[in-house]
Amino acid sequence: MEAKKIRSTFIEFFQSKQHHYVPSSPIVVKNDPTLMFTNAGMNQFKDAFLGNEIAKYSRVANSQKCLRVSGKHNDLEEVGVDTYHHTMFEMLGNWSFGDYFKKEAIEWAWELLTEVYGLDKDRLYVSVFQGDAGDNLGMDQEAYDLWKAIVPEDRIIMGSKKDNFWEMGDVGPCGPCSEIHVDLRSDAERALVAGKDLVNNDHEQVIEIWNLVFMQFNRVSDGSLKPLPATHVDTGMGFERLVRAIQHKSSNYDTDLFAPFLAALAKKSGKVYGEDLPTDIAFRVIVDHIRAISFTIADGQLPSNNKAGYVIRRILRRAVRYGYTFLGFQEPFLYELTSLIADNFGDIFPEVRQQQEFIAKVIFEEETSFLRTLDNGLKILDQIKSELSAKGENVIPGKTAFELYDTFGFPLDLTSLIARESGLSLDEKGFALEMEAQKTRSRAASESETGDWVLVNEDNGVEFVGYDFLKAHAQIIKYRVISDKKGDKYQIVLDKTPFYAESGGQVGDTGLLISETETVKVIDTKKENDLIVHFVEKLPTNPEAKFGAEVDAEKRFLTENNHTATHLLQAALKEVLGDHIQQRGSLVNQNLLRFDFSHFSKLTDSEIAKVEDIVNDKIRQNIALSEQRNVPIEEAKKQGATALFGEKYGDFVRVITFDKEFSVELCGGTHVPQTSKIGLFKIISEASSASGVRRIEAITAKAAEEYFRKQENLVKEIQELLKNPKDLMKSIEALLQERNDLKKEIDALHLEKASGVKVELLKQFVAGEGINTLIAQVELPNADSLKKLAYELKNEIANAFVILAAKVDDKPQIAVIIDEELIASKNLNAGQIVRELAKEIQGGGGGQAFFATAGGKNLAGLENVVVKARELYL
Ligand code: ATP
Ligand code: MG
Repeated sequence: MEAKKIRSTFIEFFQSKQHHYVPSSPIVVKNDPTLMFTNAGMNQFKDAFLGNEIAKYSRVANSQKCLRVSGKHNDLEEVGVDTYHHTMFEMLGNWSFGDYFKKEAIEWAWELLTEVYGLDKDRLYVSVFQGDAGDNLGMDQEAYDLWKAIVPEDRIIMGSKKDNFWEMGDVGPCGPCSEIHVDLRSDAERALVAGKDLVNNDHEQVIEIWNLVFMQFNRVSDGSLKPLPATHVDTGMGFERLVRAIQHKSSNYDTDLFAPFLAALAKKSGKVYGEDLPTDIAFRVIVDHIRAISFTIADGQLPSNNKAGYVIRRILRRAVRYGYTFLGFQEPFLYELTSLIADNFGDIFPEVRQQQEFIAKVIFEEETSFLRTLDNGLKILDQIKSELSAKGENVIPGKTAFELYDTFGFPLDLTSLIARESGLSLDEKGFALEMEAQKTRSRAASESETGDWVLVNEDNGVEFVGYDFLKAHAQIIKYRVISDKKGDKYQIVLDKTPFYAESGGQVGDTGLLISETETVKVIDTKKENDLIVHFVEKLPTNPEAKFGAEVDAEKRFLTENNHTATHLLQAALKEVLGDHIQQRGSLVNQNLLRFDFSHFSKLTDSEIAKVEDIVNDKIRQNIALSEQRNVPIEEAKKQGATALFGEKYGDFVRVITFDKEFSVELCGGTHVPQTSKIGLFKIISEASSASGVRRIEAITAKAAEEYFRKQENLVKEIQELLKNPKDLMKSIEALLQERNDLKKEIDALHLEKASGVKVELLKQFVAGEGINTLIAQVELPNADSLKKLAYELKNEIANAFVILAAKVDDKPQIAVIIDEELIASKNLNAGQIVRELAKEIQGGGGGQAFFATAGGKNLAGLENVVVKARELYL
């Protein structure tokens, strides 16, 4: 069975059991401080498990894009070394939200694997949670009995908390689980050692394929378990592993999911997969990593220097490095694999096909720049090696390796490899110490602790009224404390709120909570999953009181100007630059708007002017806002609404339209009722923000007016400085011309003066035996003329030895010049002489044996220079 068919069969099987198919959520997680990337199918349903949200469907099935390279689930070091852990993989899953539980989950899993996919029952093992004293939990008898009814008892394994109790993170929903393992060894091997003994033993051919989690608990921050309001099923099956089992392969990479990629790499590198271990690992790492990189970029995460962006950059560099070292790729090569990604995954994940060109471009630029640093780093390593060998040492210090890592993005294993090739070793401990020190520094800066929610009033869900009102009567549902180095902060959830929580680039509202007895400032509002969280300066003394919740209207209105202007800007950019414009990020606050979009070249002045004109026209047309709430997503797409890649949309969306021929966007933000409220729109900067991405910053309304007033004042001030000329430009040009003329005149005068000085000096040479010495004090306009004078004196007098103590632009300088013949015959050295004399002017200098100069601080010392020089050399 082909991979594609295996995937669709899974979905169809559960559809036949009344499951609703939902698309994968984005791989990059937003609005969740505990998670950077989706690491399991259940992430997008977290709120439903926690009871924050009522699940729309009680039975769901899907294939979820997952990434396990950071945090609690990190498989990076295994990837490529083994043949069944990937960075990015698809997790097939079926869910029950308060509907069926262990019985159906277990029976259907078995039916699907053995009857539909036809896996050999003899090769399957299942595990059951054995209980855990620490958590005060007994064994999962219910699951055991259910399994016993369908598989022989000797195929059931009891598993510890580590393997059979699933937790998403340190806190959150969790519960016992049953895993299904498959033994893919040959019959001969199976006859020798029982598969049961190899389960959960990191055996390459006896691997876990499916985990059925029975969600019963919520782990809170003191480590204890609280029962969940309802029980749920969450299952996750590694798609790549399943395909391997069904296709009878001994490695995930031998399935039709990866084979085209391996073939392409083999062709390009001229190397063969399957002959030599280090080369094979490189092949696997690269074909694995290209998927992770492409899918995350498609979901809107660009490689960068921090957080999620840095994780992607590291994965990318890891792939480049393997290609460089083991497959001989000195030029970018990864980006070429993106067309295979589009061909192989575009049907089920359209985002990788639609954005293939963009993804390729981003990867190409990253590769190019890392290959450049790779080269630089190698050069620096060469230098270090020769310095070490000059000193007779053979260990590269940890500090140096860390600098290479930190400044050149040079992985430690690469430094270590090159060291070995040159017969050197590397102080890995020293490196680890430096690394640890850096981590401690950054951890200390960011560490914070989140307390548990404290319930104040009954939780009947949160109502957001901020689209229609800026004030509301509210009660606190719950609050919690966040402590970090700077002190405590508080978060509050209200039953009803007009406060807009930061999202879609628009900043969160600020404002006040007012009760009969006190007023508390709301300093920010953010979303956590779908919860609206208000950040307050202090907790109200009586949290149970009734509050008036009031949004800072002035700030909200200014922000709305900028948000609507952002929509107009995006539509105008499409008109001027073309339909390839895709939003890549945005920021909207009361001061400005920032809009990042895919486009490959700098905007010209005339393009910027055109965009501004279109937006300002639309403002003057005074277009009324059309806001539709709860539009079915299909319907919105039919209206041509612009959606964002990497954004998680529900089945019902909000559509914001300003002129249906012009701007229709899916948007949760707040907007002006009429475009004329924006007043004026002005772009203040246009620049590159990442490869293939441009960034525009713009201002509106009062801020734009102030901008023009500032420009006007600037011109006025210049005019006044120039005594209000009739024609400002002409007057500035005349000024510049005058300045040039004067400079020429001054240069000529300097020249004249210097030649007068020279004539005087030529008379002062003192003749000795085969040597003509001149020691004199002079005054000159600049260092160049001093040098020039010294050279001319030497050229005009035979066997010249000249010491000039000069006042140059009010600073002391010394120049010494010696006829080349004299250096040997009289054993004179200008460098040494100038250094000795420079002591008198508190300075230093040097140069060659025939010519040297020095500068100093003590102008009064110039006379002593002359006295001392005469004592020594006359
Ligand atoms: P393992 O012990 O093999 O790392 P796990 O216990 O971490 O697996 P779960 O968290 O239970 O796995 O995830 C559910 C399923 O997802 C697993 O049964 C497996 O098939 C698949 N899976 C987990 N991690 C990976 C990975 N890194 N690459 C590919 N598939 C994976
Ligand atoms: Mg794992």
